[in-house]
Amino acid sequence: MRTLQALDGETLVVGVIGWPVRHSLSPPMQNAAFAELGLNWVYVPFEVAPDRVQQAVDAVRALGMVGINVTVPHKEAVARLVDELDPAAATLGSVNTVVNRDGHLVGYSTDGAGFVRSVEEAGEDLAGKRVALIGAGGSARAVAQAVAAEQPEALCIINRTFSRALELAGQVRGGGLTIGALPLESAQHAVQDAQVVIDTTPVGMHPHAQDAPVVPPEWLHEGQCVCDLVYRPRDTVLLRAARERGARTVSGAGMLVHQGAIALELWTGKPAPLVVMRQALLEALDARS
Ligand code: NAP
Repeated sequence: MRTLQALDGETLVVGVIGWPVRHSLSPPMQNAAFAELGLNWVYVPFEVAPDRVQQAVDAVRALGMVGINVTVPHKEAVARLVDELDPAAATLGSVNTVVNRDGHLVGYSTDGAGFVRSVEEAGEDLAGKRVALIGAGGSARAVAQAVAAEQPEALCIINRTFSRALELAGQVRGGGLTIGALPLESAQHAVQDAQVVIDTTPVGMHPHAQDAPVVPPEWLHEGQCVCDLVYRPRDTVLLRAARERGARTVSGAGMLVHQGAIALELWTGKPAPLVVMRQALLEALDARS
């Protein structure tokens, strides 16, 4: 069992701001990583009301915090408040990680790269593939941009509200990539034809884990890779249905670990202790199930 370092006058603080944020799994995951790296650092959740985001960002500078993670609904607001944005965050207008470089705050978006790493870790390659991405919300935007950078053959954005799918398809950039958009009810052929199917909707998430998946299981088949961004439960109704039909699956827990690992690497400059982070995350998830 890893234990936190005793806090003292040298302890450095990292945190996550959100509204709400008490459900966050990042504190156990990041504190386990700090302990493993022997860092006298602590990671704490801060519940910040929407009208206090500016003050929270100012506090990162004033308190000399190492940085923060940012979760819903503050990702866009923080992107407007930091001093500099990395290219991914600038493209998205959204920040999930802030690094404090001597009072100069740099905003990053690690969700998309975290997703891609989780897919690679599962032994899947996005290059040259036909990809169907369901959803057009905040996480879909981050994932779509990162997937497009992996040079798939085609990316089809599918959403319940078609106008949002169209809008996202118009924003994604990728050289030589065919980008399309479809309403969910007309997406059967595109999903069946896809080699990689990514569900970025919250459908199937606790406490509605038994809800029917947004992608009907009969659209899925052997040879596909099906990814679900939902991580609670780890094994969703969609992923179980996909496996029953012979598809390979990637859980959202992998993306959660990797987006946190990239954030930790930005703060510390050290390779993330992935095994320890994943174990802490899965323990925290299981404890809540
Ligand atoms: P969001 O911005 O609210 O977007 C939700 C998307 O899902 C929208 O496109 C919405 O369609 C669609 N949707 C919602 N309910 C639906 C339903 N019943 N049927 C069909 N489509 C539906 O949410 P988000 O921030 O992208 O987050 C989505 C999920 O990703 C959440 O479960 C979140 O926990 C998860 N997530 C996981 C990670 C990770 O690290 N694994 C990271 C980020 C997010 P409309 O446009 O029609 O409303």
